[in-house]
Amino acid sequence: MTNEVYNFSAGPAVLPKKVLEIAQKELLDYQGTKMSVMEMSHRSKTFENIVNGAIEDLRELLNIPNNYKVLFLQGGAHLQFSMVPINLLKNGVADYIVTGLWAKKAYNEAKKYGNINKIATSEDKNFSYIPDCSNLDISHDADYVYICENNTIYGTKYPVLPNTKGKTLVSDMSSCFLSEPVDVTKYGLIFAGAQKNVGPAGVQIVIIREDLLRDELPVWAPTMLNYKIHADNNSMYNTPPCWGIYICSLVFKWLKDLGGLNKMKEINLKKAKILYDFLDNSKLFKGTVEKSSRSIMNVPFATGNDELDKKFIEEAKDFGLVQLKGHRTVGGMRASIYNAMPIEGVKKLVQFMEKFEKENV
Ligand SMILES: *Cc1c(COP(=O)(O)O)cnc(C)c1O
Repeated sequence: MTNEVYNFSAGPAVLPKKVLEIAQKELLDYQGTKMSVMEMSHRSKTFENIVNGAIEDLRELLNIPNNYKVLFLQGGAHLQFSMVPINLLKNGVADYIVTGLWAKKAYNEAKKYGNINKIATSEDKNFSYIPDCSNLDISHDADYVYICENNTIYGTKYPVLPNTKGKTLVSDMSSCFLSEPVDVTKYGLIFAGAQKNVGPAGVQIVIIREDLLRDELPVWAPTMLNYKIHADNNSMYNTPPCWGIYICSLVFKWLKDLGGLNKMKEINLKKAKILYDFLDNSKLFKGTVEKSSRSIMNVPFATGNDELDKKFIEEAKDFGLVQLKGHRTVGGMRASIYNAMPIEGVKKLVQFMEKFEKENV
Protein backbone atom coordinates (compact mmCIF):
# COMPACT_ATOMS: atom_id res chain seq x y z
CA MET A 1 0.00 0.00 0.00
CA THR A 2 1.31 3.43 -0.84
CA ASN A 3 1.06 6.61 1.17
CA GLU A 4 -1.53 7.80 -1.32
CA VAL A 5 -4.30 5.96 0.52
CA TYR A 6 -6.69 8.01 2.64
CA ASN A 7 -7.97 5.97 5.57
CA PHE A 8 -11.49 6.80 6.78
CA SER A 9 -11.61 4.07 9.42
CA ALA A 10 -13.70 4.79 12.53
CA GLY A 11 -11.03 3.22 14.71
CA PRO A 12 -8.30 2.22 15.06
CA ALA A 13 -7.90 5.19 12.81
CA VAL A 14 -5.49 7.36 10.89
CA LEU A 15 -2.60 8.95 12.79
CA PRO A 16 -0.65 12.05 11.76
CA LYS A 17 2.01 11.01 9.29
CA LYS A 18 4.53 13.27 11.03
CA VAL A 19 3.95 11.38 14.28
CA LEU A 20 4.53 8.01 12.63
CA GLU A 21 7.71 9.34 11.05
CA ILE A 22 9.06 10.46 14.43
CA ALA A 23 8.13 7.07 15.93
CA GLN A 24 9.93 5.37 13.05
CA LYS A 25 13.02 7.49 13.49
CA GLU A 26 13.10 6.82 17.23
CA LEU A 27 12.09 3.17 16.99
CA LEU A 28 15.51 1.62 17.62
CA ASP A 29 17.11 4.43 19.58
CA TYR A 30 14.92 6.68 21.65
CA GLN A 31 16.81 9.95 22.11
CA GLY A 32 20.25 8.41 22.49
CA THR A 33 19.27 5.62 24.91
CA LYS A 34 20.06 2.98 22.22
CA MET A 35 16.77 1.37 23.22
CA SER A 36 13.26 1.41 21.91
CA VAL A 37 10.52 2.83 24.12
CA MET A 38 9.03 -0.68 23.85
CA GLU A 39 12.04 -2.13 25.66
CA MET A 40 12.27 0.31 28.54
CA SER A 41 11.33 -0.10 32.17
CA HIS A 42 8.26 1.90 32.97
CA ARG A 43 10.12 2.90 36.16
CA SER A 44 13.01 4.42 34.22
CA LYS A 45 13.63 8.15 34.30
CA THR A 46 13.28 8.24 30.52
CA PHE A 47 9.82 6.73 30.51
CA GLU A 48 8.72 8.77 33.52
CA ASN A 49 9.61 11.86 31.48
CA ILE A 50 7.47 10.60 28.60
CA VAL A 51 4.43 10.11 30.85
CA ASN A 52 4.84 13.37 32.70
CA GLY A 53 5.44 15.26 29.47
CA ALA A 54 2.30 13.71 27.99
CA ILE A 55 0.22 14.73 31.01
CA GLU A 56 1.65 18.24 30.94
CA ASP A 57 0.93 18.67 27.22
CA LEU A 58 -2.59 17.30 27.56
CA ARG A 59 -3.25 19.65 30.48
CA GLU A 60 -2.10 22.55 28.36
CA LEU A 61 -4.11 21.53 25.29
CA LEU A 62 -7.38 21.11 27.20
CA ASN A 63 -6.67 23.72 29.85
CA ILE A 64 -7.32 21.10 32.55
CA PRO A 65 -7.71 22.66 36.01
CA ASN A 66 -5.47 21.54 38.88
CA ASN A 67 -8.27 19.73 40.68
CA TYR A 68 -8.49 17.13 37.90
CA LYS A 69 -6.25 14.09 37.44
CA VAL A 70 -5.15 12.69 34.08
CA LEU A 71 -4.90 8.89 33.93
CA PHE A 72 -3.66 6.49 31.27
CA LEU A 73 -5.47 3.19 31.74
CA GLN A 74 -6.24 0.03 29.77
CA GLY A 75 -9.30 -2.04 28.98
CA GLY A 76 -10.79 0.30 26.39
CA ALA A 77 -13.94 2.35 26.72
CA HIS A 78 -15.66 -0.90 27.58
CA LEU A 79 -13.91 -1.13 30.92
CA GLN A 80 -14.97 2.45 31.64
CA PHE A 81 -18.57 1.29 31.25
CA SER A 82 -17.85 -0.69 34.47
CA MET A 83 -15.35 1.57 36.22
CA VAL A 84 -17.62 4.60 36.09
CA PRO A 85 -20.48 3.02 38.09
CA ILE A 86 -18.15 1.04 40.38
CA ASN A 87 -16.32 4.23 41.39
CA LEU A 88 -18.98 6.90 41.15
CA LEU A 89 -22.10 5.27 42.57
CA LYS A 90 -22.55 6.29 46.20
CA ASN A 91 -26.33 6.62 46.43
CA GLY A 92 -26.55 3.79 43.91
CA VAL A 93 -28.46 5.91 41.39
CA ALA A 94 -27.40 7.25 37.99
CA ASP A 95 -29.14 8.70 34.92
CA TYR A 96 -28.13 7.67 31.39
CA ILE A 97 -28.93 9.31 28.07
CA VAL A 98 -28.90 6.60 25.42
CA THR A 99 -27.93 8.01 22.01
CA GLY A 100 -26.33 4.96 20.43
CA LEU A 101 -24.83 1.54 20.81
CA TRP A 102 -21.96 2.65 23.07
CA ALA A 103 -24.23 4.55 25.43
CA LYS A 104 -26.58 1.60 25.49
CA LYS A 105 -23.78 -0.77 26.36
CA ALA A 106 -22.66 1.57 29.13
CA TYR A 107 -26.22 1.76 30.43
CA ASN A 108 -26.66 -2.02 30.43
CA GLU A 109 -23.34 -2.52 32.18
CA ALA A 110 -24.12 0.07 34.86
CA LYS A 111 -27.37 -1.72 35.66
CA LYS A 112 -25.29 -4.45 37.28
CA TYR A 113 -24.22 -2.00 39.96
CA GLY A 114 -27.16 0.19 40.82
CA ASN A 115 -30.48 1.75 40.09
CA ILE A 116 -29.88 3.10 36.60
CA ASN A 117 -32.43 5.26 34.78
CA LYS A 118 -32.64 5.81 31.06
CA ILE A 119 -33.80 9.44 31.10
CA ALA A 120 -33.74 10.03 27.34
CA THR A 121 -33.06 8.09 24.17
CA SER A 122 -33.10 8.47 20.39
CA GLU A 123 -33.51 4.78 19.69
CA ASP A 124 -36.94 5.40 18.11
CA LYS A 125 -35.19 6.74 14.99
CA ASN A 126 -32.16 4.45 15.02
CA PHE A 127 -30.15 7.05 16.96
CA SER A 128 -30.14 9.53 14.10
CA TYR A 129 -30.50 12.56 16.38
CA ILE A 130 -29.65 13.91 19.84
CA PRO A 131 -32.74 14.38 21.99
CA ASP A 132 -33.57 17.70 23.64
CA CYS A 133 -31.76 17.52 26.97
CA SER A 134 -32.55 20.98 28.29
CA ASN A 135 -35.08 19.90 30.89
CA LEU A 136 -34.86 16.18 31.58
CA ASP A 137 -36.23 14.36 34.56
CA ILE A 138 -32.93 14.16 36.46
CA SER A 139 -33.14 11.94 39.55
CA HIS A 140 -32.77 14.01 42.71
CA ASP A 141 -30.30 11.49 44.15
CA ALA A 142 -28.40 10.71 40.93
CA ASP A 143 -24.67 10.30 41.52
CA TYR A 144 -24.05 11.30 37.92
CA VAL A 145 -25.56 11.83 34.47
CA TYR A 146 -23.94 9.84 31.67
CA ILE A 147 -23.58 10.71 27.98
CA CYS A 148 -21.72 9.49 24.93
CA GLU A 149 -20.85 12.87 23.47
CA ASN A 150 -20.02 11.89 19.89
CA ASN A 151 -21.75 8.81 18.58
CA THR A 152 -19.16 7.21 16.35
CA ILE A 153 -21.48 4.74 14.64
CA TYR A 154 -24.36 7.13 13.85
CA GLY A 155 -22.43 10.35 13.36
CA THR A 156 -24.24 12.48 15.91
CA LYS A 157 -22.85 14.87 18.48
CA TYR A 158 -24.48 16.87 21.28
CA PRO A 159 -24.92 20.42 19.96
CA VAL A 160 -25.15 21.53 23.59
CA LEU A 161 -24.43 19.60 26.77
CA PRO A 162 -27.44 18.32 28.72
CA ASN A 163 -28.73 20.33 31.62
CA THR A 164 -27.78 18.01 34.49
CA LYS A 165 -29.36 20.29 37.09
CA GLY A 166 -26.20 20.36 39.12
CA LYS A 167 -25.39 16.66 38.91
CA THR A 168 -21.96 15.42 37.88
CA LEU A 169 -21.61 14.92 34.13
CA VAL A 170 -19.72 11.87 32.82
CA SER A 171 -18.82 11.84 29.14
CA ASP A 172 -17.55 9.17 26.78
CA MET A 173 -15.53 11.38 24.40
CA SER A 174 -13.75 8.55 22.62
CA SER A 175 -14.45 9.78 19.10
CA CYS A 176 -14.31 13.56 19.59
CA PHE A 177 -11.52 13.87 22.15
CA LEU A 178 -9.15 16.73 21.24
CA SER A 179 -11.13 17.57 18.10
CA GLU A 180 -12.00 20.96 19.63
CA PRO A 181 -11.56 22.82 22.92
CA VAL A 182 -13.89 21.79 25.76
CA ASP A 183 -14.61 23.34 29.13
CA VAL A 184 -13.38 20.55 31.43
CA THR A 185 -14.99 22.18 34.47
CA LYS A 186 -18.40 21.20 33.10
CA TYR A 187 -17.55 17.54 33.60
CA GLY A 188 -16.81 15.31 36.56
CA LEU A 189 -15.23 12.65 34.41
CA ILE A 190 -14.20 12.43 30.77
CA PHE A 191 -12.90 9.26 29.17
CA ALA A 192 -11.63 8.51 25.69
CA GLY A 193 -10.10 5.52 24.01
CA ALA A 194 -6.97 6.54 22.16
CA GLN A 195 -7.60 4.61 18.97
CA LYS A 196 -10.13 7.06 17.54
CA ASN A 197 -8.38 10.39 17.62
CA VAL A 198 -5.16 10.29 19.67
CA GLY A 199 -3.10 7.14 19.34
CA PRO A 200 -2.98 3.37 19.00
CA ALA A 201 -5.47 0.99 20.60
CA GLY A 202 -4.68 -0.02 24.16
CA VAL A 203 -4.65 3.34 25.92
CA GLN A 204 -7.64 4.77 27.70
CA ILE A 205 -7.43 8.39 28.81
CA VAL A 206 -9.42 9.41 31.87
CA ILE A 207 -9.75 12.94 33.22
CA ILE A 208 -11.38 12.89 36.64
CA ARG A 209 -12.21 15.56 39.20
CA GLU A 210 -10.38 14.82 42.43
CA ASP A 211 -13.42 14.77 44.69
CA LEU A 212 -14.69 11.75 42.73
CA LEU A 213 -11.67 9.66 43.75
CA ARG A 214 -12.50 7.32 46.62
CA ASP A 215 -10.23 5.46 49.01
CA GLU A 216 -12.68 2.70 49.67
CA LEU A 217 -14.64 0.86 47.05
CA PRO A 218 -16.93 -2.07 47.82
CA VAL A 219 -14.83 -5.15 48.83
CA TRP A 220 -15.74 -7.01 45.66
CA ALA A 221 -14.34 -4.26 43.43
CA PRO A 222 -10.97 -5.19 41.87
CA THR A 223 -8.11 -2.94 42.98
CA MET A 224 -7.23 -2.35 39.33
CA LEU A 225 -10.63 -0.74 38.80
CA ASN A 226 -10.13 1.93 41.45
CA TYR A 227 -9.39 5.33 39.88
CA LYS A 228 -7.71 6.52 43.05
CA ILE A 229 -5.12 3.72 42.93
CA HIS A 230 -4.13 4.87 39.45
CA ALA A 231 -4.20 8.54 40.39
CA ASP A 232 -2.01 7.97 43.48
CA ASN A 233 0.48 6.06 41.35
CA ASN A 234 0.58 8.47 38.40
CA SER A 235 -0.87 5.75 36.12
CA MET A 236 1.99 3.40 37.05
CA TYR A 237 0.38 1.18 39.67
CA ASN A 238 1.18 -1.64 37.29
CA THR A 239 2.88 -1.65 33.90
CA PRO A 240 1.05 0.91 31.77
CA PRO A 241 0.64 0.68 27.96
CA CYS A 242 4.05 2.34 27.50
CA TRP A 243 4.26 2.38 23.72
CA GLY A 244 0.72 3.68 23.35
CA ILE A 245 1.33 6.48 25.83
CA TYR A 246 4.48 7.43 23.93
CA ILE A 247 2.55 7.70 20.64
CA CYS A 248 -0.15 9.77 22.39
CA SER A 249 2.58 12.07 23.69
CA LEU A 250 3.77 12.61 20.12
CA VAL A 251 0.21 13.37 18.99
CA PHE A 252 -0.16 15.93 21.81
CA LYS A 253 3.05 17.62 20.62
CA TRP A 254 1.76 17.55 17.04
CA LEU A 255 -1.43 19.29 18.17
CA LYS A 256 0.54 21.92 20.07
CA ASP A 257 2.76 22.57 17.04
CA LEU A 258 -0.34 22.89 14.89
CA GLY A 259 -1.58 25.70 17.13
CA GLY A 260 -3.69 23.90 19.73
CA LEU A 261 -7.34 22.91 19.82
CA ASN A 262 -8.80 26.17 18.53
CA LYS A 263 -6.81 25.71 15.37
CA MET A 264 -7.68 22.00 15.24
CA LYS A 265 -11.37 22.85 15.50
CA GLU A 266 -11.09 25.38 12.70
CA ILE A 267 -9.52 22.76 10.43
CA ASN A 268 -12.07 20.09 11.45
CA LEU A 269 -14.99 22.42 10.73
CA LYS A 270 -13.54 23.20 7.34
CA LYS A 271 -13.18 19.49 6.50
CA ALA A 272 -16.70 18.64 7.71
CA LYS A 273 -18.20 21.55 5.76
CA ILE A 274 -16.72 20.34 2.49
CA LEU A 275 -18.36 16.95 2.95
CA TYR A 276 -21.70 18.12 4.36
CA ASP A 277 -22.08 20.85 1.72
CA PHE A 278 -21.64 18.22 -0.93
CA LEU A 279 -24.13 15.84 0.74
CA ASP A 280 -26.74 18.59 1.09
CA ASN A 281 -26.62 19.24 -2.65
CA SER A 282 -26.18 15.71 -3.92
CA LYS A 283 -28.84 13.96 -5.97
CA LEU A 284 -27.47 10.55 -5.07
CA PHE A 285 -25.99 10.66 -1.57
CA LYS A 286 -27.83 11.59 1.60
CA GLY A 287 -26.54 12.23 5.09
CA THR A 288 -28.28 9.91 7.55
CA VAL A 289 -28.64 12.14 10.64
CA GLU A 290 -30.58 15.24 11.63
CA LYS A 291 -28.65 18.34 10.65
CA SER A 292 -28.63 19.89 14.10
CA SER A 293 -27.02 16.76 15.56
CA ARG A 294 -24.23 16.34 13.04
CA SER A 295 -20.80 15.16 14.13
CA ILE A 296 -17.73 16.75 12.59
CA MET A 297 -15.75 13.54 13.15
CA ASN A 298 -17.94 10.74 11.77
CA VAL A 299 -20.04 11.36 8.69
CA PRO A 300 -22.42 8.57 7.65
CA PHE A 301 -24.18 8.72 4.29
CA ALA A 302 -25.97 6.40 1.89
CA THR A 303 -27.44 6.23 -1.59
CA GLY A 304 -30.52 4.37 -0.39
CA ASN A 305 -29.59 1.44 -2.62
CA ASP A 306 -27.53 -1.34 -1.00
CA GLU A 307 -26.03 -2.51 -4.30
CA LEU A 308 -24.95 1.01 -5.20
CA ASP A 309 -23.45 1.50 -1.73
CA LYS A 310 -21.43 -1.65 -2.19
CA LYS A 311 -20.25 -0.54 -5.59
CA PHE A 312 -19.27 2.85 -4.18
CA ILE A 313 -17.18 1.30 -1.43
CA GLU A 314 -15.40 -0.99 -3.88
CA GLU A 315 -14.65 1.71 -6.44
CA ALA A 316 -13.58 4.17 -3.75
CA LYS A 317 -10.96 1.67 -2.67
CA ASP A 318 -9.49 1.61 -6.18
CA PHE A 319 -9.41 5.42 -5.98
CA GLY A 320 -7.29 5.24 -2.81
CA LEU A 321 -10.13 5.94 -0.37
CA VAL A 322 -10.37 3.09 2.11
CA GLN A 323 -12.43 1.94 5.11
CA LEU A 324 -15.59 3.75 4.03
CA LYS A 325 -18.06 1.01 4.91
CA GLY A 326 -20.72 2.07 7.39
CA HIS A 327 -21.37 0.25 10.66
CA ARG A 328 -23.50 -2.86 10.18
CA THR A 329 -26.34 -1.35 12.26
CA VAL A 330 -26.59 1.70 9.97
CA GLY A 331 -25.44 0.39 6.59
CA GLY A 332 -24.27 2.64 3.77
CA MET A 333 -21.01 4.49 4.16
CA ARG A 334 -19.23 6.34 6.92
CA ALA A 335 -16.31 8.70 6.51
CA SER A 336 -14.45 9.23 9.76
CA ILE A 337 -12.54 12.47 9.35
CA TYR A 338 -10.58 12.62 12.57
CA ASN A 339 -7.87 15.17 13.41
CA ALA A 340 -5.22 13.33 11.42
CA MET A 341 -7.25 13.17 8.19
CA PRO A 342 -5.73 15.80 5.91
CA ILE A 343 -8.09 18.21 4.17
CA GLU A 344 -6.80 16.78 0.86
CA GLY A 345 -8.33 13.44 1.86
CA VAL A 346 -11.78 14.97 2.26
CA LYS A 347 -11.43 16.87 -1.02
CA LYS A 348 -10.45 13.68 -2.79
CA LEU A 349 -13.45 11.88 -1.30
CA VAL A 350 -15.84 14.57 -2.51
CA GLN A 351 -14.18 14.57 -5.92
CA PHE A 352 -14.79 10.82 -6.13
CA MET A 353 -18.38 11.16 -4.93
CA GLU A 354 -19.04 13.72 -7.67
CA LYS A 355 -17.61 11.38 -10.26
CA PHE A 356 -19.60 8.43 -8.92
CA GLU A 357 -22.79 10.47 -8.90
CA LYS A 358 -22.31 11.50 -12.53
CA GLU A 359 -21.78 7.89 -13.54
CA ASN A 360 -24.68 6.45 -11.57
CA VAL A 361 -27.58 8.87 -11.54
C1 LIG B 1 -15.01 2.90 19.85
C2 LIG B 1 -15.85 3.44 20.92
C3 LIG B 1 -16.08 2.70 22.10
C4 LIG B 1 -15.54 1.31 22.31
O1 LIG B 1 -14.15 1.35 22.54
P1 LIG B 1 -13.33 0.05 22.94
O2 LIG B 1 -11.93 0.54 23.04
O3 LIG B 1 -13.51 -0.97 21.85
O4 LIG B 1 -13.84 -0.45 24.25
C5 LIG B 1 -16.85 3.30 23.07
N1 LIG B 1 -17.37 4.54 22.92
C6 LIG B 1 -17.15 5.26 21.80
C7 LIG B 1 -17.73 6.63 21.69
C8 LIG B 1 -16.39 4.73 20.77
O5 LIG B 1 -16.18 5.46 19.66
